[in-house]
Amino acid sequence: MDLIIGSHVSFTNKDQLLGSVKEALSYNANTFMFYTGSTQSTQRSALNDEFTYEAYKLMVENNINSENVIVHAPYIINLANKVDIDKYNFYVNFFTEELNRVNKLGFNKIVLHPGSAVNCSREEGIQNIISGLNNVLSNSKDVIVLLETMAGKGNELGINIDEIKAILDGIEDKNRVGVCLDTCHLNDSGIDINEFDKYLDDFDKSIGLDKVKCVHVNDSMNPISSHKDRHNNIGYGTIGFDALNKVVHNKRLEGIPFILETPWVNRNEKDEYPPYKFEIENFRNNKFVDFINK
Ligand code: FE
Ligand code: FE
Ligand code: ZN
Repeated sequence: MDLIIGSHVSFTNKDQLLGSVKEALSYNANTFMFYTGSTQSTQRSALNDEFTYEAYKLMVENNINSENVIVHAPYIINLANKVDIDKYNFYVNFFTEELNRVNKLGFNKIVLHPGSAVNCSREEGIQNIISGLNNVLSNSKDVIVLLETMAGKGNELGINIDEIKAILDGIEDKNRVGVCLDTCHLNDSGIDINEFDKYLDDFDKSIGLDKVKCVHVNDSMNPISSHKDRHNNIGYGTIGFDALNKVVHNKRLEGIPFILETPWVNRNEKDEYPPYKFEIENFRNNKFVDFINK
């Protein structure tokens, strides 16, 4: 089976999804991930069906299956904090609308950072996420929410298998939740990516590997257990190409979309370029070619 791999791409007002697909194709990707607007705000523009239609034409021509396309929710949604109830309700409503947008675009998976336990215990934070998500899911349809495994920066929740399982256990509509593994976050949270099969064993025993619907493939700038969350280019960080290449080609994850969220490379301040075409090529060839210091 062909490797399903792509990167995060932009989605702008200029041409919306059509631009996202064109960008993905420029990296020779066969899938992609995007935010429906800014990563840091909840401002969203109306969807233009014309762009969506043109985008799907291009996807069909290039064998991009919409089932493999991932949307990412903006970072600022925090369903764990109920101290400011107006804000909490705002996030619940925004996220419900966001699921409707994903539906309208014809996709069915959205990645969410579970949340941060500010001004509450981790247990309370998890309960708040559960009630928020149950609310969102009962007021939307079809789209599956993928909880991302987090690095443990600050008060982040979802930083180990037990916390992800605790959230999943509280969800009423089990078919509408899954997990997105992020290799940088796993490394930073204390998982040795060289022993990835051991992690998959633990995950399988506790949650079930069928719940993994997406993998974010990133190298890390920091050592294992650093709780930092700074992504590095594939083969240039502390995890390294070989360990990440084994993740991407792991038989147990066959058929799952792999998404790169690595930083753009700068030659100098004015000259930045995306690394994705090279990173995808290296994974497809099972061989690391240095594309930065060439
Ligand atoms: Fe993320
Ligand atoms: Fe990620
Ligand atoms: Zn990250």
